[in-house]
Order: sequence, then C-alpha cells, then structure tokens
Amino acid sequence: MKKTIPIATNPFLTDIDHPTVQVRWGQGPYENTKAALSKIDLSLMRGKRVLLKPNAGRLASEDSGVVTNSQVVAAAIDAFRAAGAEVAIGESPIVGIKTMEAYEQCGLAMMARERKCPLIDMDERKPEIAPVPNGYAIQTIKLCADVQDFDILVSIPVMKMHMHTVATLSIKNMKGCLWRRSKVDLHMLPLTKGSEKEKSLNVAIADMATVLRPHLAIIDGTVGMEGLGPSAGAPKPVDAVVVGSDPFAADSVACQIMGLTAEEVPHLRMGSERGLGIIDLEKITIYPSNWKETITPFDRVPENLSIQFPNTNIMDKHSCSACQSTLLLFLKRYGKEMFQYFPENTPINIAIGKGHKNLLGNALLIGNCTRAHKEGRTFVSGCPPVGSAIINAIREARAQK
Ligand code: SF4
Repeated sequence: MKKTIPIATNPFLTDIDHPTVQVRWGQGPYENTKAALSKIDLSLMRGKRVLLKPNAGRLASEDSGVVTNSQVVAAAIDAFRAAGAEVAIGESPIVGIKTMEAYEQCGLAMMARERKCPLIDMDERKPEIAPVPNGYAIQTIKLCADVQDFDILVSIPVMKMHMHTVATLSIKNMKGCLWRRSKVDLHMLPLTKGSEKEKSLNVAIADMATVLRPHLAIIDGTVGMEGLGPSAGAPKPVDAVVVGSDPFAADSVACQIMGLTAEEVPHLRMGSERGLGIIDLEKITIYPSNWKETITPFDRVPENLSIQFPNTNIMDKHSCSACQSTLLLFLKRYGKEMFQYFPENTPINIAIGKGHKNLLGNALLIGNCTRAHKEGRTFVSGCPPVGSAIINAIREARAQK
C-alpha cells in the first residue's frame, strides 16, 4: 500500500501553467469520450493501476443527470486497458445509499460485468486518516482506503449545478472518496477563521483538493443537471464530454459550457488562488477551436427554494447544509405525497437545526438536532436522515392516528 495520496506528481500534466483541455460533442457518450481521450498520451498508463471515480453516489438512472453515464465510463475502461492499465471503479455514496445498489441502478454494474471490470464499494474497508497539512477548514480527511491502492485517480463527474457549491464537477466529485458519513462532516463545519465570508463547505473542498486531486478529469455532459442540483434539478442534455489533466482547467471549461465562470464556483476560485490548478481561460488551450458551440447555459439554483412549497413553513435554526439538502430533496420528491397526510389548507411546519427553543405543537422534526423536542411530535432521526425515512415516518405517524 502506498503511503501518499496520488497527487504529488501528475505525469499527464506536461505544462502546469498552460494546461490543455479536450471537448468533444455530438457523437454520444462513448464516442465523445473515446475521441477526447485519444488526444491524451495514455502510454503513461502502461502497467499502472487506475481507479475510476464516477458519480454513482445516489440511486438514479443514467439519463437523470444525477449520475455518470455508464458509456462514458465504458470508453475510459476500454481506452485505459488498451494502453496497458489495470482498471477498477470505486465509489462511496451519500449517507443512506448502498454502493452496490447505486451501481446497479445507474447501469454501471451491468456495463462493468460485461467488461469484467471490478466494482469497489469503498465504504467496506476501514478508512485511513490522511493529513491535510495546508488545510484552512479541515486538517485531516477520512480517506477510503482503496484510493491508496491505485497509481492513477480519474474523476468522472456529471456536469451539474449544486445548491451549496454552485457547480459540482471533477474536484467536488472527489468528495466521494471520503469514507461513509465523514462526507457530511464537511457540511457541518463552523466558520473558517480568516475565510469568514466563504461557506466552510467550499473552503473544505478546496482544502481536500490539496491532497486528493485526480490525475485526469473526464466530465460527463451527456445529460447534465440544471437548477436544483445535485439531485433535484432538471436533466440537461448537452451530449458533450470534457477531458483534461488539470482538473481545475477541465472544470473551468465545463463551467463555460454551463454558462458559468469558474470564479463563480468558490472551491475552484479558492483552489486556483492556492495554486492547485488553472482556471484562467487565457492560460488554457482548448481543443477543438470551435468548442464554444457546446455552450448551453444551465438554469441556476433558485435563490428562494421555499417558493416552491408555499404551504410549508420551514423553521431552520442553525442547521447545516446536509439537513437543508435533505429537506429540499424530500420536498421535491415527496412533497405532493406529504400533503395527503395533513389537513387541507393547513400549513405544514417543519423544523431542522439545533437552535430551537419553542416549537409549534404539530412541527415535523427532521434530523438528530431536533431530538430534544420530539415528545408528542413526529421526529425523523438521522444526521441527516434520507428523504424516504422522512416520508416513512409521516406515513407511520398518520397510520397510528
Ligand atoms: S441533524 Fe441535520 S442539522 Fe443537525 S448536524 Fe445532522 S445534518 Fe446537520
């Protein structure tokens, strides 16, 4: 087992200050990826162990814009194997999701079986505590142990908007190499001293990138997600793939395609300021020259999410972004059903966070932080709970009445 995280050197990055990025589009996920990778010197893969880290962090189909398209991963496997590499796929999903079920649902499992490519549940082994020596918000991470077994790490995210980080691309996708619920820890950090104007989650992602940065980024824009990403937005077909050996540069180009600038994505801006990669388009050579034909502005994350749930009163006192995400996703997926269990035209009161003193008697309590108020109320445990647990708790409470 190696003792260092695969970041120190990147053999694919020949000019650190002037990276190149390949964009291919219009040919479907497999051909787009194959064409983009054909411009990378994959002879460097010979004899290497390569870990592909797609986004298979949720139960979703590959046309949903939530998870990575299996044919993008298939093209990467075929290209890397042809170059003489040993390839495996690894993931640690969000809390409450079983890795192997997520692989099945998104089509990666079937594709990997066809190719006899190992699928790793990176939550199975005990994690390694890895130092983040120059971290501002975090000083260590709980790293999935499997990551250390590979020579080359390839991030294969989906092109998505994100309610907390503006966009999620190849750098943010590395959060799925953090073990089990330690991912949630990044959502619960106090304000970072010296960076009080930034969300600590974003500071922490930039910190994470100092020790956990992929050697290659393959950004899947077959079907991205606009609006309320990372999982409650709308699918956005782009039919494009972006490949680069500087993941910051690749993310920066993907941002352009989405109608954003990388400076608007705090973890990319902060990471580039720390010298972790290039986001300045003037310094990035992008192929082919007509790549701007792919630009398809994505809808932004709505600013006031409660507008979508006018009959719902959300009482949020000092919650963290993990519970906020859970609640928003819950309302999006189960909001309609939820209203069936409450008297018509009565506002539904939902509490999250740990700062509540007095709560309305009928408040629905979500997350362990609200436990102290559970007497006589519907309480959903978890930190955070998953949406299905919330709807199940409501169903049970109503059945008992
Ligand atoms: S219960 Fe919710 S608000 Fe409280 S720490 Fe856990 S995720 Fe955050």
